[in-house]
Amino acid sequence: MLFKRTLIALLAVSAATLAQAQSNWPTRPITLVVPFAAGGPTDVVARTLGVAMSKTLGQSILIDNKLGAGGTIAASFAARAAPDGYTFFIHHNGMATSPALYRKLSFDPMKDFEFVSQAVEVPMTLLARKDFPANNLQELIAYVRANHEKINLANAGLGAVSQLCGLMFQRAIGVQVTEVPFQGTAPAMNALLGGQVDIMCDQTTQTVPQIQAGNVKLYGVTTRTRVKVLPNAPTLAEQGLKDFEVVVWHGIYAPKGTPKAIIDKMNAAVRTALKDPEVVKRMDALGAEIVPDATNTPEALHVWLKSEIDKWGPVIKASGKFAD
Ligand code: ASP
Repeated sequence: MLFKRTLIALLAVSAATLAQAQSNWPTRPITLVVPFAAGGPTDVVARTLGVAMSKTLGQSILIDNKLGAGGTIAASFAARAAPDGYTFFIHHNGMATSPALYRKLSFDPMKDFEFVSQAVEVPMTLLARKDFPANNLQELIAYVRANHEKINLANAGLGAVSQLCGLMFQRAIGVQVTEVPFQGTAPAMNALLGGQVDIMCDQTTQTVPQIQAGNVKLYGVTTRTRVKVLPNAPTLAEQGLKDFEVVVWHGIYAPKGTPKAIIDKMNAAVRTALKDPEVVKRMDALGAEIVPDATNTPEALHVWLKSEIDKWGPVIKASGKFAD
């Protein structure tokens, strides 16, 4: 009897402690895991949001770049982190494409995470090194078809949007080139600038400054319509690559089991950050579009991720590109 009463009392105390921990949250810095290299497109979005979110949350957001395997190492790490509200994870379309790309994936995107919010959508650009001998898309296609054995296409590994976009380009023009994987498109961009690789697809959040400075050749954008920040860049589709559309979307996740009260507070912080004038200005300058507020709910991200898995799974399986 005494044992039972002690147990009940202990359970009541730990439930109260837990409730207090949730209502005080956050009492220390929060880690946001980024699956690609520092300075790249995903990292830029994460850091810009992180600074704004820390104003609302009253704690710093520490960026942890966990690199490798097209973002799957970071996803696996985040899925296994303690669900205590101090580890979150940002990823892009790779969260939806990796189940089809990897035969053995050590996490389940739909089952191992809580969903926090979407954030921004970003167009991609098709680029070449500055001295590449093709000045427009038609010349690029002709040159790559004629020289495909010696063309190097940079990407951020299987599961990265740069890889998906590059794959779509190769399929669209009917040849295969050599894919060179990096641990993010920040190092891939350095290789492009240094002339070690020839072509690359990447988000405007990294490429706009390089395009505007004239450091790379631009052949077009991957969106259905032109992009405000690059008004002279035609879309790939309008230049003849019919249906060539890739829009990069970002989602924020937490390890499964993170308390709902914390998820809701984090969601509110993301939504506030997305209205922060500094964030709006930076995202605008980099061609990124802030996702409408109504779509930034945990439920909407859950539905969206499922629809993206269903959309890309068959396309990727048909491509025959897999990793173990
Ligand atoms: N842009 C990269 C990709 O291809 C990711 C990154 O480095 O942020 O997925």
